[in-house]
Parts: sequence; structure tokens; C-alpha cells
Amino acid sequence: MKCEYCEIVEREGKAPILYIDEELVVAIKDKVMAPGQITIFPRKHYTILEMVPELLIAKCSVVANKVSMALFESLGCQGTNILISNGLASGQSVPHFGIEVIPRIEEDKVGLTWEGKQLNDDEFEMTMRALVEDVKKAQAEKAKKVEKETAADAAAANSESAVLGKDVKVVDDSSRKSGEGKASGEAVTKAKTKSQAVPPLVRNIRRIP
Ligand SMILES: [Zn+2]
Repeated sequence: MKCEYCEIVEREGKAPILYIDEELVVAIKDKVMAPGQITIFPRKHYTILEMVPELLIAKCSVVANKVSMALFESLGCQGTNILISNGLASGQSVPHFGIEVIPRIEEDKVGLTWEGKQLNDDEFEMTMRALVEDVKKAQAEKAKKVEKETAADAAAANSESAVLGKDVKVVDDSSRKSGEGKASGEAVTKAKTKSQAVPPLVRNIRRIP
């Protein structure tokens, strides 16, 4: 038995397709949380978010935003929920990644609100630790990759002394402030690589005492 979304792609399902291209589908499912709900999903079968290529996640997100704007205009809704249920435990009912855009009006009784749970110190610490470890790992991998890619550029940067001279000076000043780096093309490249490799999320996490 095929999955519900793959059936829609092959026009075997009941859901009308609003838009389809080589990569994604926009459809109206017959079972929804609110009338006007629209589903965006990759044309190819990916079970969960992690499996979807990043560019396709980006495209699905952009389309979800456009669908949301269209719902505001056409239905006059007062809000939308953009929902991804990722994995069985989250309530994902179709084993094919998708984004639901759900139009909302006040007091519509759609069950998507919840009472906040107050975290205790241990739970807070556990969440922070898990996140920081994960982001650090991703950051190290990314830095390694960027460094490899820029190794060839570093040699080229050194040879362009006339043009790069000014740049080296500027970057060297800022490097000295942070107590690292030296005045060379390689230092410039490394400094840039380092600042690019640390995502704002990590910098913010480090600032939290
Ligand atoms: Zn599928």
C-alpha cells in the first residue's frame, strides 16, 4: 500500500492538487483540522524532515509562507499555524514529510494551544547541554569543511599582496583585539572562516551564564 501523499502525487487520492512541480506538491487533504487547511509536501517520498534535502526544506517553507499569505487574503483568517509533525511520537499520521498550513480565527477551538510546562533546573540544564553539544559538533564539522575549501584560496590571497594589503591590516586590527591571528593572507582567511563557522545560536548560548 502506497503512502497517502504518494497516492496524491499519482492522482490516486481524493485530494485536489493546487500546485505541483518536479519537487513539491500543494494539495487539500480531505481530513483536516480546519476548513481551508493546505498541505505542502515534497513530490519524492521522504519519511521525516531529517531526510529532506536542505534546499527542498527551504522551498517548502517559502511555499508554506505564500500559502499562508493567500489564506489570510482569501479566507480572511486572523492567524495561521504552520505545522510540521516530525515522527510518530509527534502525531505524524502520514509517513511522508509535509507542512500543514492551518487557517485560524479566534475561538475556533482547533486544538493547537497548550498550557506551558514550567521547566525545573534539571530539565533546563539537560536541554541546554543536549543542544550545545549538538551545535558544537555541527560547528566543528562545518569549520573543517570551510577550512578545506578555503585552503586553496589562502595561497591565492597571499600572492595578491597589493590588493589584499589593506584588507590584511583591517582584519589584523580586529584579530589583535581578540588576542589572536597574524598579519598574513592566511590569517585573514582563517579569521573569516572562524567567524563564519560560529552560528549566532551558538554565540548566544555561550553568553547565557
Ligand atoms: Zn509518500
